Amino acid sequence: MDREGGSLSGTPGQLHAIVAGAGIGGLTAALALARQGWRITVLERAPVIEEVGAGLQLAPNATSILEKLGVLDRLMLHATTPEALQIRRARDGSELVRMPLGPIADLRWKAPYVVVHRADLQRTLIEALAQEPAVTIKTGASVLGFASSANGVQVGGKMSNINVRYEGDLLIAADGVRSVLRERLGLGPQDKPVYSGRTAWRAVLDARSAPAHAVRLQTNLWVGPKAHLVHYPLRQGSVVNVVAITEDEWKGDDDKDFWAVHGDPAQVSRRFSGWHRDARDLVGAVTEWRRWPLFDRNPVTRWSTDRVILLGDAAHPMLPFLASGAAMAIEDAMALAQADAAHRGDMRATIAAYEKGRIARAATVASASRRQGWIYHLSGMAGFARDAAMRRMGPERLMARMDWLYLPRQ
Ligand SMILES: Cc1cc2nc3c(=O)[nH]c(=O)nc-3n(C[C@H](O)[C@H](O)[C@H](O)COP(=O)(O)OP(=O)(O)OC[C@H]3O[C@@H](n4cnc5c(N)ncnc54)[C@H](O)[C@@H]3O)c2cc1C
Repeated sequence: MDREGGSLSGTPGQLHAIVAGAGIGGLTAALALARQGWRITVLERAPVIEEVGAGLQLAPNATSILEKLGVLDRLMLHATTPEALQIRRARDGSELVRMPLGPIADLRWKAPYVVVHRADLQRTLIEALAQEPAVTIKTGASVLGFASSANGVQVGGKMSNINVRYEGDLLIAADGVRSVLRERLGLGPQDKPVYSGRTAWRAVLDARSAPAHAVRLQTNLWVGPKAHLVHYPLRQGSVVNVVAITEDEWKGDDDKDFWAVHGDPAQVSRRFSGWHRDARDLVGAVTEWRRWPLFDRNPVTRWSTDRVILLGDAAHPMLPFLASGAAMAIEDAMALAQADAAHRGDMRATIAAYEKGRIARAATVASASRRQGWIYHLSGMAGFARDAAMRRMGPERLMARMDWLYLPRQ
């Protein structure tokens, strides 16, 4: 049994947070707390932190926080700023609405709207953490459980088949949508991730293989019957991120790492065969899809027990139809740091303030995301009505409808 101490192993009085999961949520929380003097141990199950995932849209509510943490400038070396969001109709490719982004978004929402590869964001956060002397990241370290009391938390896990135990002042469970730590929070038998009936087919395509329309510096959303398609160029236009979302039945593969599951290009192409040529050409250009079944979970009213808190997808998995899951994880991290600043050392008050600031917000965004997916997939007369409403709305009203989500809160 490998043992590591809690706050006693740092400088005297230094608080120690153990973070389970080196995803966007875990790393941002680690950075935000390290900046406030915490000692941090991040435990990541994967043996190496490698290029997992695809593109992320990061709205101003997230980039404003990355700016406060001093990592936005570095991220911008890898990020791309789309000039607009264009929404098109699947059948004939006609434009329903075009919302300006770029400098207009920056002005309205006080921070940039960017797209970035998840791996570039993860690497940027890790580079920032490397500058923090009190932060340790351990890979190949699976967290399995904890024993928590009002005085501290003991965290148990495995590293290279050896049992390990850590002691700390706080455990941040940022272990993703299928969080094992959430299972131990006693949130009831109904609290399970449920397959949403939708699958995201994800691809990152070399821009040289993509049709010319897909390389334009904008974010594209296509809406159609029981499916939608999102694409945008990434990494200075060298690749194109493509996400095709379909309604389907999916059974099994529960234990598989999603990113490891390949999709059949012919099957995806068939699904989009009735769509406008631009959409068909893009989908047809992809030779390697990853199948990503989308899970949903009903919101809960508690994200903690004693010295353990949930953060990111572990706390609030959400369907990606408002492109906001990572942004919510980043907001969680900043809210936690602010709660810590306000109640320094009083863990009960810190956790209560964190939950108060976050549970309702995340539930609202998750519910709006669900609704958005339903709207995108309407067909027949309902689809016709949606298209007419989008055309009538126009860019200014569409921007105004996003204020509640995109305006920086912290
Ligand atoms: C198709 C699709 C498109 C999306 N697009 C966007 C978008 O445009 N914008 C946006 O903001 N969000 C988007 N999201 C959502 C976003 O990807 C997630 O919300 C975000 O990555 C969640 O981050 P996280 O850190 O909470 O979890 P994760 O990124 O899942 O990280 C969890 C980490 O914990 C590790 N782990 C798991 N179990 C253990 C354990 N027991 N012990 C130790 N480590 C463990 C995992 O290996 C992983 O590294 C999208 C999601 C999908 C599926």
